[in-house]
Amino acid sequence: MRQLLDQHNRIASYLRIGVTDRCNLRCRYCMPAEGIDFSDRKELLSYEEIIRLAHIFRELGVDKVRLTGGEPFVRKGIEHLLQALANIFPKVNITTNATLLQNHFDLLERINISGLNISIDSLHRERFLMITRRDNYERVMENILACLSRGLPVKLNVVTMQGVNDMEILDFVDFAIRHRVEVRFIEAMPFNQDDGNKTVFLSARDILNRIQAVHPSIQKLVPKNASSSDTYLIENQYKIGIIPAYTRSLCASCNRIRLTPKGEFLTCLYSKTGTDLRALLRDPSLDDEAIAAAILNSVAHKLKSGFEEEAKRGEEVFSSMTSIGG
Ligand code: SAM
Ligand code: SF4
Repeated sequence: MRQLLDQHNRIASYLRIGVTDRCNLRCRYCMPAEGIDFSDRKELLSYEEIIRLAHIFRELGVDKVRLTGGEPFVRKGIEHLLQALANIFPKVNITTNATLLQNHFDLLERINISGLNISIDSLHRERFLMITRRDNYERVMENILACLSRGLPVKLNVVTMQGVNDMEILDFVDFAIRHRVEVRFIEAMPFNQDDGNKTVFLSARDILNRIQAVHPSIQKLVPKNASSSDTYLIENQYKIGIIPAYTRSLCASCNRIRLTPKGEFLTCLYSKTGTDLRALLRDPSLDDEAIAAAILNSVAHKLKSGFEEEAKRGEEVFSSMTSIGG
């Protein structure tokens, strides 16, 4: 099997696949309330195209994939894709807002899902509604508890914002302890000048300080593999993650690559443009080897850090994480 080696000696082995840019929530840090220009169905990679690419990526050494979006479970027939990916990769993960999970527990067990990251930014119905602009708190919490009682491998993602939900950091830590579930606090990434994420930004360091003030014995774990999160142990047993999505202190060990819903291949969350794999897939004169060559070439040129990518991007901004596959 080949490997996806970049010019800074990192090996990309973890592919994040954005399966749709659509979502049934409208989280303030992620999407505007309305007026979103969603992609046309024809613009998205079909499941057959994603599966063809999956075989190519597997042959290039990728052993872990994560479905993300938008909300993966709003795309029709996603069970078919999950099952197919589980037959190709040793590790299949998914990131979801959990609003539709009640229809999929059996499937997740059957494919032996290796990670189920669920986003929930508040433990209070009113604040959940204020952040997501949808009144789904009860359904989401019910589904989280159902996943936990079934023993599914859940982690909770909390985008942590000053003045919005930072007053719940310690409540989430208590939730992590009470339910023995890893909670990961994520820095809010600004996408453009107007999304408000800069004004509510709370750094990974500040999040840690808040937890440390109440749990002074918190210890940092030495990472076993490349990770996007710093992981800590509270009372020697409860895991808490902090994701420096904006301060980007973990680029040196990055093993992640991304496929957007429209089939653009990005080597960094902060990339401006990538390789248009959809065009290559739809060119009948190109075989799998030609596509593999394009992927190898793209990874080989991966820049050292998200800061270098951002500098290259200049003034250009993203509209939302959902177009990249967050
Ligand atoms: N809809 C699914 C969900 O919310 O879990 C999957 C897609 S969502 C884009 C993936 C992750 O990106 C979620 O954990 C979400 O909270 C996070 N996210 C979205 N916008 C973000 C931003 N501006 N800064 C930091 N994290 C963000
Ligand atoms: Fe939807 Fe996830 Fe974005 Fe929230 S963070 S709007 S749930 S894609």
